[in-house]
Amino acid sequence: MDKRRSKQDQSTPELFSAYLRQMEELGVEQLYWKPPKERPRRQPPVKEKGMAGQAKPEARPVDPERAKRLAELEAEVSVCTKCRLHEGRTQTVFGAGHPAADLVLVGEAPGFEEDRQGIPFVGRAGQLLTKILAAMHLSRDEVYICNIIKCRPPENRNPDIDEIVTCEPYLIEQLELIQPKVICAMGKFAAQTLLQTKTPISKLRGQWHQYQGIPVMPTFHPAYLLRNERDKRLVWEDMQQIMARLGIPL
Ligand code: URA
Repeated sequence: MDKRRSKQDQSTPELFSAYLRQMEELGVEQLYWKPPKERPRRQPPVKEKGMAGQAKPEARPVDPERAKRLAELEAEVSVCTKCRLHEGRTQTVFGAGHPAADLVLVGEAPGFEEDRQGIPFVGRAGQLLTKILAAMHLSRDEVYICNIIKCRPPENRNPDIDEIVTCEPYLIEQLELIQPKVICAMGKFAAQTLLQTKTPISKLRGQWHQYQGIPVMPTFHPAYLLRNERDKRLVWEDMQQIMARLGIPL
């Protein structure tokens, strides 16, 4: 018998303790609980609702023309030989998720696992990102995840400036086609490229910036968080700002 149970089958205390465990993993040490004035009658938990019980905003409808162009662009990228990185790749890693996502998360470059699978953020850093998204009541299918560059640099070295500049038009078109409401720039390379600045990520994070009129929240890269657990709390603060901006209840 399958022991796994869906969220709908779990009781409110079970869901709440799972939520607390998730927060603990993200380094959140304090939560504020405002008891409801009048205790609502116990009802079965409804899908797509946050802890506060408000519904998440509806996803935008997919424009078939934009989705078609995004798929064409992915095919173009898959045979790209514009920079030296094509020589060492197994495959390109274009991006994954909802083609009309409200939230696009941009990372640096594919790593070993991503190069192997052709999907962004599937290694250890990716698993942490998936947990962060779950804490935001978001699944990977509801957002769009991509990178500044689409091929893995050898030995996971940092991308060179010429590689970033050569690959950037792909990201620019991806963002034009998806038209997200919010961009989350994860790490120094994503933030500095999108915002055209040399300001360190530690100074950029936690504040709203703009990319082509789209609000951008820079935050630390999940790979950095694996090495610096204490800063998970700061990333969670940044993510809460994104949730508020998108109307996602805590
Ligand atoms: N790090 C990134 O920046 N992107 C990935 O896809 C994986 C790890």
